[in-house]
Amino acid sequence: KIDIIIFLIMNFKIPENIKTILITGGAGFIGGWLVRRLLQETKITIINIDKYSYASDLEGINNLLMKNAINKERYFFFQTDLNNSEKISEILFAKRPDYIMHLAAESHVDRSLENPLNFIENNIIGTFNLLEATRLFFNSISKKEQDLFLFHHISTDEVYGSLGEKGSFNEASNYDPRSPYSATKAASDHLVFAWHHSYGIPIKLTNCSNNYGPYQFPEKLIPLTILKCLKKEPIPIYGNGLQIRDWLHVEDHVDALFKVIKNGKTGQKYCIGGHGEKTNLEVVKTICSRFDELSPQNLPHSSLITMVEDRPGHDTRYAIDPNLIQKELFWKPRYDFNKGIYQTISWYLNNEKWIEKMIEQSGYSG
Ligand code: NAD
Repeated sequence: KIDIIIFLIMNFKIPENIKTILITGGAGFIGGWLVRRLLQETKITIINIDKYSYASDLEGINNLLMKNAINKERYFFFQTDLNNSEKISEILFAKRPDYIMHLAAESHVDRSLENPLNFIENNIIGTFNLLEATRLFFNSISKKEQDLFLFHHISTDEVYGSLGEKGSFNEASNYDPRSPYSATKAASDHLVFAWHHSYGIPIKLTNCSNNYGPYQFPEKLIPLTILKCLKKEPIPIYGNGLQIRDWLHVEDHVDALFKVIKNGKTGQKYCIGGHGEKTNLEVVKTICSRFDELSPQNLPHSSLITMVEDRPGHDTRYAIDPNLIQKELFWKPRYDFNKGIYQTISWYLNNEKWIEKMIEQSGYSG
């Protein structure tokens, strides 16, 4: 009985009155997971808008569409930059989404330090253009359609800045971004709330902690470490490696997004995190140990660890207090870190061709 009750509480079904979801950034890591889950688990029509950057990939989605069970008629991909305002409006008016999920963003802190303008253009101006197109569209639809319509902005815990040894971020935490990436994400959060308060656009906002899992571009800590272990190359760690991140498996993030779509309150923000705090050094050592188990002849992979000069302005610690989403929406993560990291390493080992393809298409030097 308890199992049935838990199943009913945990079910991620999306309301049937949502017929069309427009996703921006659906060729990226988290967006790709979201598109695939929506295709597999719902009958909803998906509109995917992505400019297709160095980090993009549609292989996972295309593989799924080749399987007969998925109806290709309900998936549309537009390779479009959010900064092409005319095209974005055209897509909105033609496809008439009930729900928009905005994930498109430049997402790597190191790249934001090298080229902050690119982040301002994509994350701030891109969000502004999408909101303006949404406002035009929202004002053109009937009251009944407006009552259903939602703009869901997907953001990060990095907007809250850096924590000391204790405490965690929650929905009431002050914004205190400290890198060009987090500053542009914070700006986009503010724009979304402003369009809600000033123009009446119904919104929801989620701030999630660091994600990991299959299909993540290998410049981020976990896939980069896996790549280095595979190639037996030095594994770079910034500074003393004691920076703490609150790691969450991408599927748990998507589960949380489903919960927010289903029952999240309009105008509300939800912080998403699974109490997965680990130092960068712990994360890298866990991956090395797993590689030691898999190939004991190449011992020990931790000898590849190489400390490098710290990233400027490197935030010390992030942690999320997920109390609101757990209590109000009955979300909880399915993966603990060890289970998630094992699954992720196995995926990369079985998909070395994918890594090669991504490195080749992006010219990323690792
Ligand atoms: P990603 O870099 O893998 O994917 C982002 C996608 O957005 C790419 O496919 C890119 O081409 C697209 N994009 C960027 N600018 C665009 C533009 N102007 N027009 C159209 N498409 C554009 O990033 P991700 O890790 O999947 O992150 C997705 C979202 O989730 C981001 O908004 C990010 O801030 C947020 N987020 C990420 C994490 C994480 O740990 N990865 C955690 C919390 C929140």
